[in-house]
Amino acid sequence: METAVEKQMRGGRLFVVVPCYNEEEVLPETAKRLKEELSKLAAAGTIDDNSRILFVDDGSADRTWELIAGLHAQDPVFQGIRLARNSGHQNALIAGLFTAGSLCDMTISMDADLQDDVHVIGQMVERYHAGADIVYGVRSARRSDTWFKRVTAEGFYRLMNRMGANTVYNHADCRLMSARALAGLRQFGEVNLFLRGMVPLVGFSSDTVTYERAERFAGESKYPISKMLQFAAQGITSLSVRPIRMITGLGFFIFFVSIVVFIYSLVRYFTGHTITGWTTTVLSVWAIGGLMMISLGVIGEYIGKIYLESKGRPRYIIADYQGDATDTPDLIDRKGVI
Ligand code: UDP
Ligand code: MG
Repeated sequence: METAVEKQMRGGRLFVVVPCYNEEEVLPETAKRLKEELSKLAAAGTIDDNSRILFVDDGSADRTWELIAGLHAQDPVFQGIRLARNSGHQNALIAGLFTAGSLCDMTISMDADLQDDVHVIGQMVERYHAGADIVYGVRSARRSDTWFKRVTAEGFYRLMNRMGANTVYNHADCRLMSARALAGLRQFGEVNLFLRGMVPLVGFSSDTVTYERAERFAGESKYPISKMLQFAAQGITSLSVRPIRMITGLGFFIFFVSIVVFIYSLVRYFTGHTITGWTTTVLSVWAIGGLMMISLGVIGEYIGKIYLESKGRPRYIIADYQGDATDTPDLIDRKGVI
């Protein structure tokens, strides 16, 4: 096992992984800033000279892939993979991480829209050299977000934790992972991905760095409210069975209430009031009917997940790769097999 000091002396090859979906407006600026940052760190010796920026084109419909290919032709620091179709942010992320994982010592994932401060790269690498295998980027302030985005996003983290899906508060997908942490992540074979909940389950020593989240540099958010809600449900049902337990608890509670109602009806019967109680009957039919449907829906969510998992479809398919000729990345997602 090497010591932290030896690690520091060695630098290490870094891959910055950037998922891009219709990001032609921000890509040139993102590329420029990331390159500047990497050159600075390479000059300081904290990362190797052959560190790379890997863009993952998640089936964009605009000129994103042409831009990536153009950047690669100009400078080998820029690399790219193109997915065969739009597979979603989480799948695009692991496509990039797993492609890079076998080629480098550490990866840092970051959004393409420059909302994550590029300066955290240096801080994350520092923590890596200090011995952390995973470094979470945590947003210190959300001043740049709208009131609505802030409240919904913070509510999301709280709800997640309450539902038993433990995540790092205010941490999205900006994080450093060492090669061995990535090898650990590869063992997770699920197709329903919720990376920010899965990564803490990998283990190893972790650390956090905080940064202020900036405004989107250009273009629009690819996460409208409907996608955010879907993502929250995905996170909870991927990581926890607490909703099902809550249904069981609710079942017990309603059963208890029914005993009380049963005693009440008996008392009414023996005191000669047999016709009354229409309101309670109708109300309880509706209430229990509604609860049953919700419960079936929740259980259905999980069964749907099992259905998808049992198919074992690939999480992504890579259509194109622009990288170093000497690098031979693993372009096939073998799910769990290193
Ligand atoms: N993204 C992606 N595939 C998608 C949607 C988004 O790769 O289907 C990328 C997008 O290009 C960006 C990142 O995921 O780099 C985060 O998306 P966005 O900035 O739109 O989300 P927000 O920051 O508004 O939550
Ligand atoms: Mg964004």
